[in-house]
Amino acid sequence: MNGIQENISYIVRRIEEACKIAGRNPNDIQVLLATKTVQPERIIEAFSYGYTLIGENKVQELKEKAAALRPVPHTAHFIGHLQSNKIQDVVQYAACIQSIDTLRLAEKLEKHLAEKQLCKDILIQVNTSEESAKSGCKPQEAETLVRTIAALPHLHIRGLMTIGTFTDDPEETRRCFRCLKRLQTQIIAQQIPGVSMEVLSMGMSGDLEIAIEEGSTMIRVGSAVFGTRV
Ligand SMILES: *Cc1c(COP(=O)(O)O)cnc(C)c1O
Repeated sequence: MNGIQENISYIVRRIEEACKIAGRNPNDIQVLLATKTVQPERIIEAFSYGYTLIGENKVQELKEKAAALRPVPHTAHFIGHLQSNKIQDVVQYAACIQSIDTLRLAEKLEKHLAEKQLCKDILIQVNTSEESAKSGCKPQEAETLVRTIAALPHLHIRGLMTIGTFTDDPEETRRCFRCLKRLQTQIIAQQIPGVSMEVLSMGMSGDLEIAIEEGSTMIRVGSAVFGTRV
C-alpha cells in the first residue's frame, strides 16, 4: 500500500487530467476526504498535506474523532444517513450536512437550530441511480424539496449531493452525474430566494473523472487516499 502523500498526489494528477479533458480549472474542484474508519493520526497526516476538508458517515464516529482532530484547523461535513436522534451532535460537529433528503428530517433539523439560534449549511442528497436501497430524494422530487426547505430560515441550501451507481458501466455512472447537474441547472433557473446551488458533491475514488467531466465541484475520496477499508 502506498503512503497517504503519494495517494493524494495521484488523486491530484487524476483531477488535473480530468479537468484537462473537460476544459475545467482544477481549482474549481474541492477534495473532501471520506474518513470513515480512518484513525485520527492518519487523518492528521492528510491535513499536513493541505487537505483539511473531511466527511464522516456516522455521527458517533464524527463525535469520537473530534477531540483528536481539534488541534488542527479543518472542516468536517456529514455525508452519511442521518437519524433524527443524532441531530444535536451533528449540528455541533459538522459544518455542513450533505445528506438531507426528506422534508421531515429538514424540519426536525430546523426546529433544533431555531432553538439554538444557529444556522447550518446543507446539501440535498438525490438518489440519481434510483436504486431503492440508497438514500436521497427522487430526482423528480428534488426541485420541490429544495423549494420547501428553502423556506426554513435556519437551513442554508448550498447545492446537491449524489452517489453514482456502483457498476462496471461508466455510462450508467455518467447518467447519474448528468442527472444531478441537470437538476442544479433547473433549480438555479428557478431563482429560489435563499438557495445557492454552487456545490455539486459527486464523484468518489472509482468515478471521480466522470464526475468532473459532468460538472462536479466536490469529490469525496476515501479508499484512494487511505487504502481499502477493512
Ligand atoms: C465512503 C464514501 C465515499 C468515499 O468512497 P471511496 O470509494 O472510498 O472513495 C464518498 N461518499 C460517501 C457518501 C461515502 O460514504
